[in-house]
Amino acid sequence: MKDFINCPKCNKPLLNEASITRDGRDIWNKRCISASHSFTCIVIDPDGVSAIMIVTDINNNVIANWKMDNQTLCIVKGKNVVNIPFFEPDFSDYDKLIQKLKTYVTFS
Ligand SMILES: [Zn+2]
Repeated sequence: MKDFINCPKCNKPLLNEASITRDGRDIWNKRCISASHSFTCIVIDPDGVSAIMIVTDINNNVIANWKMDNQTLCIVKGKNVVNIPFFEPDFSDYDKLIQKLKTYVTFS
């Protein structure tokens, strides 16, 4: 999956925080957090995008979490974690992606 420079939702440049993994590789935490959406991705050198987290429900703080390394996708709300079938996120239509994620899980 290709790296992110700009937020796929609002197209602003992502905030970029660099650090080093325990085994000495470069890692970047890139994010855009606003009142309407929240996008975070973790990029590890040299593998590329390692994880993506997006808020699917800003009012209830529901988060979709992709782990690219082991191809898992889960929806998290507080202590509740629901694994759903993995698919590659298509950020060309951000709102459609959010809608798709919402159809998988409805937290009561
Ligand atoms: Zn944004």
